[in-house]
Amino acid sequence: MTDSRGDIAIDSVLGAELELLHRDGLYRRLREVSSAQDGSVVLDGQPVMLFCSNNYLGLANHPEVVAAAREATLRYGASAASSRLVSGHMSIHSALESRIASWKRRESALLFSTGYHANVGVITALTGADDLIVSDELNHASIVDGARLSRAPTAIYRHNDVDDLLRILEQHSGKRRVLVVTEAVFSMDGDLAPLTDIALAAEKHGAWLMVDEAHSAGIFGPGGAGLVAELGLEAQVQVHMGTLGKALGSFGAYVAGSRALTTALINRARPFIFTTGLPPAAAAAAVAAIDLVEREPQRAAGLLARSASLGARLRRAGLRVPQTGSQILPVIVGGATDATDLARRLLDRGIYVAAIRPPTVPRGSSRLRISLMATHSSQQIAALHDALIDCANDGAADAADQS
Ligand code: PLP
Repeated sequence: MTDSRGDIAIDSVLGAELELLHRDGLYRRLREVSSAQDGSVVLDGQPVMLFCSNNYLGLANHPEVVAAAREATLRYGASAASSRLVSGHMSIHSALESRIASWKRRESALLFSTGYHANVGVITALTGADDLIVSDELNHASIVDGARLSRAPTAIYRHNDVDDLLRILEQHSGKRRVLVVTEAVFSMDGDLAPLTDIALAAEKHGAWLMVDEAHSAGIFGPGGAGLVAELGLEAQVQVHMGTLGKALGSFGAYVAGSRALTTALINRARPFIFTTGLPPAAAAAAVAAIDLVEREPQRAAGLLARSASLGARLRRAGLRVPQTGSQILPVIVGGATDATDLARRLLDRGIYVAAIRPPTVPRGSSRLRISLMATHSSQQIAALHDALIDCANDGAADAADQS
């Protein structure tokens, strides 16, 4: 309802701004999924194949994970109903924190409500104006926002470029504290950080290293413990962050490391202190999911093999799909409207892959970010392959017609 002058003003001002987003191909809208996150879903009322969910291992709707969530709700209720430091610290939180610490082979772990909160919380708790944050240029928005909020000067190194990282570390000796931050598997590019070399660079300069394992936990490493564990770098990574809402099929996030680290976070991380504890169902689901990834490593192994094979076939067909080494395959398109056009063509054929555009990715590198799930059938993957090639060719033909 626009019945007051203020409402009318806000509607016309925002309406004009939204028009500009439309014009530039950057308008975003919600699409409604009315079934579980799986290879086939109902999207805006239509059955489609889904290739952009982070339910990488199919655990969000795994019967053991769902049963754990149900049982926890019956036992503890639907909500922690308070912040952890007041009365919202429940035994299911302790159980999950112990489980994560042993899974990650770290002394301690602390839960956060989301990965966004975890990154903002840990970066702001550890750094301030006298310190330096050194961050990969493609790090996630939550790392960028944490760095901004911390008021620490931030130096950005070129993506995965350890020489550039070293150059920055050499230039900035004499800071009270230096925190190097990288993702393990980059969310929008799917490539892996050269963690061994990054850890050596950080160690050489006495910097602390923080690794965000949002897209690698559950997929890489012994028992799915992540890329840091796969490379045996636990001792060199002081701050180990990961999320529960992607491969683990639940919701929330954690920071693992020393007891001193998690105790400092309990005392200083504002997104931990000033928010309600994780819902019991989410915590219990995550415990069940960690049990599953440890017990069934073949889920992640099969997923990575199929992703490598699909990527190779798409490259051979002429699509711009960088070799990633992960379950994430970006199809680089370029312009924002080109990416939305390709996504629309695919959707017309019953395949949903969201277009990823600025500011999520740099200008000129808009893309379709394919994420495979362990539960996709070979037929679904073949259908995606064929449709992508056809739609990309149709797009090229249309562009040629118009020129
Ligand atoms: N870190 C990375 C690398 C991510 O990709 C994401 C989510 O997309 C997050 C952090 C935030 O995690 P959450 O969705 O749990 O807030």
